[in-house]
Amino acid sequence: MPDPESIKPQTMECPFQKKFPSQLNRDDFFFITLAYNQAIEAWKLDEVPVGAVICVDGQIIASAHNSVESSNDPTAHAEMIAITQAARALDNWRLSEATLYVTKEPCPMCSGALIMSRLKRVVYAIGDPKMGCSGGATNLNELPQTNHRVEITTGVMEEECRQIIQAFFQRKR
Ligand SMILES: [Zn+2]
Repeated sequence: MPDPESIKPQTMECPFQKKFPSQLNRDDFFFITLAYNQAIEAWKLDEVPVGAVICVDGQIIASAHNSVESSNDPTAHAEMIAITQAARALDNWRLSEATLYVTKEPCPMCSGALIMSRLKRVVYAIGDPKMGCSGGATNLNELPQTNHRVEITTGVMEEECRQIIQAFFQRKR
């Protein structure tokens, strides 16, 4: 007998549409839009819609979305998966030339991983005053003895990334 839980549909309807920005303008907005598209993929799997991409010299080397529920793994945040992908792509755990784009501010675990991977820069859309550790609730980069600081840019594509998360949790209630 199959477990009734396993018969539930594999994909959920997401009321938000993916965006396809011009390839000609590979700026922060372009890359955060691709992270947003990953967040939509997360929603379709009934995961909290957070997405991330990592690029080096304008080339995307990783893209991932939150997968905590489907992998039953509390560490399967978009940023963690993308960091692992990027290190594999570069064959180097030091991501010192890489920029990570993510739709929501990294949590304590992910903010720590950004430092541990020597990431050059992080760009996030919306801050998280509760759990964000890249400037929202606190900033791990400001540990006095830290040997690496990640450059932080915030507020790119803020409105859309806020809407998708708010809508997801409103639907859950
Ligand atoms: Zn995280």
